[in-house]
Amino acid sequence: MGKLDGRVAIVTGAARGLGAASAEALCAEGCAVMLADVLDQVTETAQALATKGYRTAACHHDVTSDADWDRVVSETIRQLGDINVLVNNAGITLAASIDDITIDDARRVMEINYFGPMRGMKAVLPSMRRTGNGSIINLSSNSTRMIIGITAPYAPAKAALALLTKNVAVHCAQAGDAIRCNSIHPGPNETPMLFGPDMDRNADAAINLIKPMVAAIPMKRMGLPAEIGSVVAFLASDDSSYMTGAELFVDGGLSLL
Ligand code: NAD
Repeated sequence: MGKLDGRVAIVTGAARGLGAASAEALCAEGCAVMLADVLDQVTETAQALATKGYRTAACHHDVTSDADWDRVVSETIRQLGDINVLVNNAGITLAASIDDITIDDARRVMEINYFGPMRGMKAVLPSMRRTGNGSIINLSSNSTRMIIGITAPYAPAKAALALLTKNVAVHCAQAGDAIRCNSIHPGPNETPMLFGPDMDRNADAAINLIKPMVAAIPMKRMGLPAEIGSVVAFLASDDSSYMTGAELFVDGGLSLL
């Protein structure tokens, strides 16, 4: 018996990285999962999980498009059933200070990292209400606490998402919906976002970026995608039934310094 037997989830940005790990962790607890992403690779990722015996589907999906959200929600309901869990994971990073940032770049980051999850929550709520047991999990970042000068477009979008998470949590609870909403704040994690699509840990760029980062982390290592996946599965399950509006920092203690 899995903790999520009979439940249905959508995971955005699920082709790789934390999204793929989250999808796998949900599947391992018995959840049926729609993996959604702008990358075609999402089909392969979903098929790899299906070959392990898990119930999955895949959908091409851009989180900035309302039409795509309508399609992924209706396809999920048609193929898997009403939606219990939404993991708003898709995101991009962009290093820039206030001197370097362009308004267009900042808008793009907000569109994907903030308005994407907002569109997603609006799109799934009617289905989630029908299930009588919903959990929304928003992937924010520890950059909401770790202030460094080059996260001018990224950190404010993630902070806005954390605040929207709390707003949705209170709104749903006060409306009597059995829907919880929490945010996860990862620190540096071993995914293509930091290492590039080929995950080349020996590339100069990766080494230069990662070495000082790891030295600063109290636990002296980066996080692994599965270590976010397990927190996603916890927040999706009834093990976290009294948690809503919480911020979970999963960063080896980095944001405590
Ligand atoms: P990643 O780049 O490996 O994966 C992100 C996925 O999102 C990709 O598959 C990409 O195709 C998808 N995506 C991007 N734009 C999209 C769009 N418009 N519509 C749909 N999908 C889109 O990144 P990751 O490291 O797995 O990050 C996942 C989430 O975790 C992101 O929100 C990121 O900001 C957050 N996060 C990551 C780290 C880290 O160190 N890796 C740290 C803190 C927070």
